[in-house]
Amino acid sequence: MNRPDLIGCDAALARVERMLSADRLPHAVVIEGPEGSGRRTLARFLAKAAACTGEQRPCGECEACRQENNPDVFELIEEKSVIPVDAVRALRAQAQEKPVCSAGRAFLIPDAQRMNPQAQNALLKVLEEPPAGAVFLLTCEYARQLLDTVISRAVVLSLTPPDRQRAVEAVLRRRPDLTPAAVDAAFAGTVGRTLARLEGEDGYDALAGEAASLLGGEEWKLHRLLRPLEKDRAAQKGLARAMGALFHDALALSMGAPRETDGLPRLLAGRWAPAQLLALAEICDAAVQDAERNLGGGLFVTLFAARLFRAVA
Ligand SMILES: [Zn+2]
Repeated sequence: MNRPDLIGCDAALARVERMLSADRLPHAVVIEGPEGSGRRTLARFLAKAAACTGEQRPCGECEACRQENNPDVFELIEEKSVIPVDAVRALRAQAQEKPVCSAGRAFLIPDAQRMNPQAQNALLKVLEEPPAGAVFLLTCEYARQLLDTVISRAVVLSLTPPDRQRAVEAVLRRRPDLTPAAVDAAFAGTVGRTLARLEGEDGYDALAGEAASLLGGEEWKLHRLLRPLEKDRAAQKGLARAMGALFHDALALSMGAPRETDGLPRLLAGRWAPAQLLALAEICDAAVQDAERNLGGGLFVTLFAARLFRAVA
């Protein structure tokens, strides 16, 4: 079966290949990397491998591989910014049951840093005594966002952002209508961000910087700044995405990651604690989705500003 197309992640893919050829999938894998680096793609691939009943896993031919919605592959869908302990307990109970049509059961926890400490401790219990064949796949931006006890029981795969040329190649595969020069000019750090820029969701960097700088001051000033966006869904999405990128950059800086950035992310990293930056980034990510689904409508500015201010209160 085809391997995931993850540019610049050769080291992680080589480790995956070694696990698969030795037929030894660990029962817990943490996949860390920035937004757009392919964390979920890799998690879904490993889930297929865990479920496959063929010889060369994932074979792509057995019943488990061919199912669109394999009943033995679970993905924790949690829209809220916190994954509560009950959600993890439910997964834990599922893990005790026998697979329906697969070799093992796979449990994906996207953005696993949203698990609060109780939820992580609940997960730890099942990682300490994993049921046969159960594989837990956690994605996050940095493994260090999770409890040390959880990390120590997992294999950590790091997806690094691709270098510029390979990222441009990856974008061109998805957008064959564009020229390499056009994609290169729009390069924005990761494949995901470059695609966003090409789809016209950028152009909000200056406004995002101004809005981010107002946090911690007076909330009405942020309202006044953002009110012109009230009826413009594309602008709301562009602004939320640009602000999210700022907070993600600031978070990366405060975690010690090398980033080529100008002054603002550094300023934000000095002003807010990592947990606050993470909360701010998550509020922006959720706002992008809200704008896509047209939730909030006319309330977008009010809700967005209130959530941002609450995160730094
Ligand atoms: Zn298979």
